[in-house]
Amino acid sequence: MTENAEIVARAPLFLPKFLIKKYFFKYEKKLLAQKEKVLKAQKKFQNGEKFLFLGKSFSLFFGDFSEISFREKTLFFPKNSKNPRADLKHFYQKMAKKILFSRVDFWAKKVGHFPKKVRISAAKTRWGSLSAAGTISLSWRLILAPPFAIDAVVAHEMAHFFYPDHSKNFWKKVAEIFPDFRRGHDFLRENAIFLRL
Ligand SMILES: [Zn+2]
Repeated sequence: MTENAEIVARAPLFLPKFLIKKYFFKYEKKLLAQKEKVLKAQKKFQNGEKFLFLGKSFSLFFGDFSEISFREKTLFFPKNSKNPRADLKHFYQKMAKKILFSRVDFWAKKVGHFPKKVRISAAKTRWGSLSAAGTISLSWRLILAPPFAIDAVVAHEMAHFFYPDHSKNFWKKVAEIFPDFRRGHDFLRENAIFLRL
């Protein structure tokens, strides 16, 4: 399934076509449901369209506003915006800097370990990482996810200060820092395609 909701089959060259078709029909329902999901996730920037911010849904409303804001259940949007997608992305990135940095600060104080640097990435599924030099990278797309998912990612990277691998001890450390981490990881796995623009 591509980002444009096209279903692409990857199979060895020698595999007969009918077998690929057979496989497709076996999973047709699942694939079509997934296709619908991807299409739904594509944004057209029309009034009333839903946008996510910190896991909550907001209805887009174009009006005489000087800047973008998420308030109550509405995403207020300047109607003179020439490129709403770019403007909203920029807004998300600005908020990501503010909110993700403050979550890192919060967890760093708790854990007693501070990263050398925090940077915001544009990764689509690699939500966070910790470099050998001690830089934590977090995807700005996390800002579309609920706070428990953000904290799960930050706690995960914090635990890497103690264990660079994904060993048993590492996961124990993650749970020690943020016991609810599994819910956050599951959320991100299941909803990755919605955390996009
Ligand atoms: Zn990891």
